[in-house]
Amino acid sequence: MQNVRIPQRVDPTKLAQKRSSYDGVFAKDHLARLADVVVEIERDIEVKVDFDVDLQGIIAIVGNASTAVKCVCERCGKPFTIDLAADFKYTPDQKKIESFGISTEYDFVDTDEFGEIDLLALVEDELMLALPLVSKHDKCPDFEGYWVSGKIEEEAKTNPFAVLKNLKK
Ligand SMILES: [Zn+2]
Repeated sequence: MQNVRIPQRVDPTKLAQKRSSYDGVFAKDHLARLADVVVEIERDIEVKVDFDVDLQGIIAIVGNASTAVKCVCERCGKPFTIDLAADFKYTPDQKKIESFGISTEYDFVDTDEFGEIDLLALVEDELMLALPLVSKHDKCPDFEGYWVSGKIEEEAKTNPFAVLKNLKK
């Protein structure tokens, strides 16, 4: 496995003109916001990203990112691993697209006064969006009854508190 570090801030205009690509990693200890909401980021963030100029002259930042994080199951309280992956498609050319008056498949990213974007922050945003709303085992062992009993499951659909009531009995 290659282990090339990707720069945090990049100039997408220059990179797009050269049709550059990155294939490498962000060190996991640089993602403080993601680290805050999980128990642990288990490995460095693998990132592939291509910079290009599309047929309409729009700068395209297209790629994907993946890692694994440890979360606590909200049902049984035990830690487990979630594989996180996100595809993204950004452009800094928001004004240009808006002047075309067309709908777009791109998300917008702002450049700073040096024409650079924070690629690390962009990737971190995408991975945080990829987190499940509720972290729990697919089939949590402590709640087996919930999954095998059609009756409880049925009640849970109509009233989420019915499950809790049944457990108290
Ligand atoms: Zn669980």
